[in-house]
Amino acid sequence: MREAANETVPEGGRIAVLSEVVRNQIAAGEVIERPASVVRELLDNAIDAGASRIQVDLEEGGMRMVRVTDDGLGMIPEDLGLAFEAHATSKLRTPEDLDHIASLGFRGEALASMASVARCSIRSRPRGADVGAEITEEGGRRGKITPAGMPEGTIVEVRDLFFNTPARRRFLKREQTELSRCTEIVQRVALAHPADETGQGGIGFVVMHGGRRVFDVEPGMDLLARIRRVFGDELASELEPVEASMGSTRITGYVAPPRFGRRDARRQMWFLNGRPMKDKVLTRVLKDAYRGVLIDGLQPVGFLQLWMDPESVDVNVHPAKSEVRLRDERSLFGFLVNALKEAVMRTNMATPGESMVDRLRRREGRPMQRETLPDPGPRGPSSAGAWIPRPDAAGGTAAGEGYIVREVPPREGAGQGLSGAADPVPGAPQGAGAGGAELGEGDRWAPVDDLRGPYIQVDRTYILRAVPDGFEIIDQHALHERLTFEELRREVKAGKVEVQRLLTPELVDLTQADVQLITVHQDALRRIGLEVEPFGDKTVAVHGLPARIRRPDPEAIVRDVVDVIARTGKAPDAEDVQEEVLHRTSCRSSIMAGDTLDESSIRALLERARDAGMDQTCPHARPTRVKFTLADLEKAFHRT
Ligand code: ADP
Ligand code: MG
Repeated sequence: MREAANETVPEGGRIAVLSEVVRNQIAAGEVIERPASVVRELLDNAIDAGASRIQVDLEEGGMRMVRVTDDGLGMIPEDLGLAFEAHATSKLRTPEDLDHIASLGFRGEALASMASVARCSIRSRPRGADVGAEITEEGGRRGKITPAGMPEGTIVEVRDLFFNTPARRRFLKREQTELSRCTEIVQRVALAHPADETGQGGIGFVVMHGGRRVFDVEPGMDLLARIRRVFGDELASELEPVEASMGSTRITGYVAPPRFGRRDARRQMWFLNGRPMKDKVLTRVLKDAYRGVLIDGLQPVGFLQLWMDPESVDVNVHPAKSEVRLRDERSLFGFLVNALKEAVMRTNMATPGESMVDRLRRREGRPMQRETLPDPGPRGPSSAGAWIPRPDAAGGTAAGEGYIVREVPPREGAGQGLSGAADPVPGAPQGAGAGGAELGEGDRWAPVDDLRGPYIQVDRTYILRAVPDGFEIIDQHALHERLTFEELRREVKAGKVEVQRLLTPELVDLTQADVQLITVHQDALRRIGLEVEPFGDKTVAVHGLPARIRRPDPEAIVRDVVDVIARTGKAPDAEDVQEEVLHRTSCRSSIMAGDTLDESSIRALLERARDAGMDQTCPHARPTRVKFTLADLEKAFHRT
């Protein structure tokens, strides 16, 4: 474990060059591959030095500079002289020490290998010392030790990584990629060092990139708070705690409900005595705990801390140090699987639609299938074998809280169907008929017909309805936006926009330049239904707006128009400008999210959609409706 926070550097220094014997027993070959490897090594060193706050400053994704500042116990000048020496370490002396290694580093290679490929400096002021000292080394050339004014702790700076090895520099990726690798390392390490139940013992981390703060956690934040900071509230709020012990071995942490499972194992983290680690056995243990509840091919999400006597762990397996070999696996295995399984079973197993859509989409590797609405027109019951519950079976008060279920009477002459509430539908299979085979006994089912309800409005935002081979969810706002846009565009094209005159003109304050811009394009704007006139030199008056627009916001519309014209530099007559203006205008007006819609409004909306032709996405390409086919449902419920 880490050295006590109040420990100081012993007289005569701590670092020594390892003997040949010890050296040969350690898996060799520390390689600095990229900025993230520098970050990881420097964090390890800071943590080994007992730091409680660590700041990582990066420039150009760490390629230009990585600087790690800690408040740990520091190094005396004699130690500074050895720090860059290969195989020089304060963490290990004899072969026996290897058996109870508790620090993160111990091979004494990291600083040496960084100094051979970058311009490095270490500044350090030991706890209790009056001044600090600095040493530099560039591509293997060591500088002199000089005094340095600084707070207690250590600052290691690694600049121009691979400045002397262009071949390796070429392997580096874009700034953004390197940055996210660095941040990911810090986040992983931050998750490994949370505060305990009493708020003690945690390490705080700050990551700055080009002077901008990109990540931080306070020392007092516990594991859950850190998971929330790194992965967000949606995951954190669904996690189930794990807590069990067997002898001196203890497991703590969190597991996520199975539906958070992912293709990659990036949200599966094991920490052994505070060290992030990967271990095949532990991966298998977690998989076992999710057996039967997690879809094949997905990795469970969990953040687990394993606390063990260092003697029963062999850390010296891989130079990357993230693989650890556990001794006495068998009994450990059983204990861990049981503890985890118990927690997994406590998680919330419900599958919300959103993650279902998401999962289906991921599995298919393509967007959800979207189809246009079925043709209108009077028709008998669909023979496609798609069925919805009869209104008397599913409707009204039977629906859950917060749902409004509405049943829409059939149009005149639209054929049979839902008309007679309890009458069996002619020709419709009952119960175990085609397509109805999986339905509950005794339920009666009626075929879907065109735009007929029942509709279910959810959260005053979404409309659910059955369609011939499944069901669809409509985003009422997105759909309305699309329709307003289409209808406006059609009116504009035909040269007859219906204009609604305002009773009193709405005044909008603009800059002088913007007023001029509006004035110049006044006629073109009138052709798209916007009647705007200058009113003094810094104000315009809005006299009329397209009648299509519901609850218009004249000021927002005018500002959008100015914005589009100014940005494109074109007249509002240009087709693309016109479209953009109409997009924005319809977006400003179609405020239908949050509206409670009665059945006839829903019906009217769907009829307009049917006539519009293009109704699958809103003008900004978000879908207006998502369809679940029966095949999708079968997949989601693993019936295939
Ligand atoms: P290792 O960590 O394997 O010992 P390194 O090359 O990473 O090897 O570091 C060499 C030595 O330098 C460490 O053993 C430690 O004594 C000292 N050192 C490195 N970084 C720090 C730091 N941030 N604070 C105090 N001592 C440090
Ligand atoms: Mg180290």
